[in-house]
Amino acid sequence: MKSSLFSESVQSLIQKTIEQKKSLILRIPPSPTGSLHLGTARTAIYNWLLSKKYTGKFLLRLEDTDRQRSESKYVSEIINGLKWLGISWDEGPFRQSEHSARHNFVLEELKKKELVYECYCTKEELDKLRLAQKESKQAPRYDNRHRNLTAAEKENFRKAGRKPVLRVKVPENKEISWFDLIKEKITVNSSDLGGDFVVGRENGEILYNFAVVVDDHDQGVNLILRGEDHLHNTAKQILLYELLEWDLPLFAHVPLILNTDQQKLSKFSM
Ligand code: GLU
Repeated sequence: MKSSLFSESVQSLIQKTIEQKKSLILRIPPSPTGSLHLGTARTAIYNWLLSKKYTGKFLLRLEDTDRQRSESKYVSEIINGLKWLGISWDEGPFRQSEHSARHNFVLEELKKKELVYECYCTKEELDKLRLAQKESKQAPRYDNRHRNLTAAEKENFRKAGRKPVLRVKVPENKEISWFDLIKEKITVNSSDLGGDFVVGRENGEILYNFAVVVDDHDQGVNLILRGEDHLHNTAKQILLYELLEWDLPLFAHVPLILNTDQQKLSKFSM
């Protein structure tokens, strides 16, 4: 890898992490909801090369918690695509869906601490809210309306046949900052994250931002390098790491691959 991906100060930060944590653990976590994308292939190469350069470990994790959209034909396409690129992994392929008991356990802990709550809003109510925001030229966001429901209100919703999603309480106006290994200092205001976000669906499915934090933590991942389209996800994930009182990994966000018309090529299937 060209040494210019990271500056000298960043390289020494990585060295420090390695000394503290013994070794660097990196990962590529594609979702098998489509064929291998160009963006995933590039991110996989970067992570794999970094694991070689720093004698770390590189994990392959298939993020298949979206049961409707994940397909086994994509699992083989992704694995074959990565092999075709000459990439090998030290551990995996793990299936995220195999960790769902653990995801639910951690989520339950946050629920007990009242950091996660049940929201019974219907799709129609949320659509109405979004439309009103659009008409008044506001950015779409959930207005946290079910954050403080009483037990009786919840019971009434359940009696009416509603099933809750689980949302994380996002503090207002909190500056979420991190030193990104590529983009340097990044700050995201928590109020720009779209309100309390959903981590668990009505049917018990755990969503990406939650499952990824639990798996990265449990698998010892300490450097997450991915596309810059994940910056807001990173801010949400940092909030989760903080709520769970877990050490943060290092983050690095690479620019997206664009064509000459500035359109994304990252979702281009290989
Ligand atoms: N499953 C996510 C994706 O394919 C992983 C993103 C990440 O955390 O690196 O975009």
